[in-house]
Amino acid sequence: MSPVVVHTAAELRAALKPVWRSDTLIGFVPTMGALHEGHAALIRRASEECGFTMVSIFVNPIQFDRAEDYELYARTLPEDLEVCHACGAQLVFAPPVEEIYPEASLTHVEVSGVTDYLCGQYRGLHFRGVATVVAKLFHLVQPTRTYFGEKDAQQLAVVRRMVADLNFPVEVIGVPTVREADGLALSSRNRRLSPEERRDAPALYRALLAARGAVERGAGHVEARQDALSVLSSISSIRVEYLEVVDDESQRPVSSIEGPVRISAAIWLGATRLIDNVTATPPRFDRC
Ligand code: AMP
Repeated sequence: MSPVVVHTAAELRAALKPVWRSDTLIGFVPTMGALHEGHAALIRRASEECGFTMVSIFVNPIQFDRAEDYELYARTLPEDLEVCHACGAQLVFAPPVEEIYPEASLTHVEVSGVTDYLCGQYRGLHFRGVATVVAKLFHLVQPTRTYFGEKDAQQLAVVRRMVADLNFPVEVIGVPTVREADGLALSSRNRRLSPEERRDAPALYRALLAARGAVERGAGHVEARQDALSVLSSISSIRVEYLEVVDDESQRPVSSIEGPVRISAAIWLGATRLIDNVTATPPRFDRC
């Protein structure tokens, strides 16, 4: 059956009321639309684990640090609804901006610490915008479980921390990154790459794998970082914004590798910014 599509908070409440009253697990996948196989993996996982699956499609203006990025963001609702249907979603919430922000918000959710480095350092109020909209959506949907991609590992850490700190009664599930055959992580921004940029883009994942290889050999974070950067510096079209070895929970760069770490990077290819990350475990930790 095709998902029910609602556009207002009142319609959403009416659609969810019978589900809240039952014991059904509600799985919730927040998205900004332009859905691809990465989003599909989240929706499928929610459908497998929960009796009721819902998706939100909302391009959240307050998480964009550049007006141009917000305006260029792909909006493909008819195709998105087909993906939601194929992956087993029963309800889609696709509100207009005025429904979520009837007036400029005076209240925001800010998760500190976890946002000090990586994207938090370069994208201004981005994570404040993310945490605020996710908190609002959690209040509207009241889900049992929510599904976020590891592709946006810092966002996942921010949501986990917000849920813990603010006692949201929701279980946060991280879903592994879905990639193209050549390793490029799926992203709605990939469609903005020129053919040449698309050819060069998989170097980001190759660089992260080089760093993972170094960590798995027992190298320290400086060497791991150097190995990754030398892969990226061989491609002239790539500008590195950051590449760091971090602790996954705190999202802070490590000063030594004592256990599993995440290696995260952001690069620019022309006017398009791509992010990606991998986890890596040092050899002495494997033996534990
Ligand atoms: P977005 O629409 O970009 O806000 O993403 C919505 C959700 O899909 C977020 O939890 C993302 O982390 C997740 N996501 C985006 N790309 C991928 C991917 N390639 N693999 C897995 N999850 C993804």
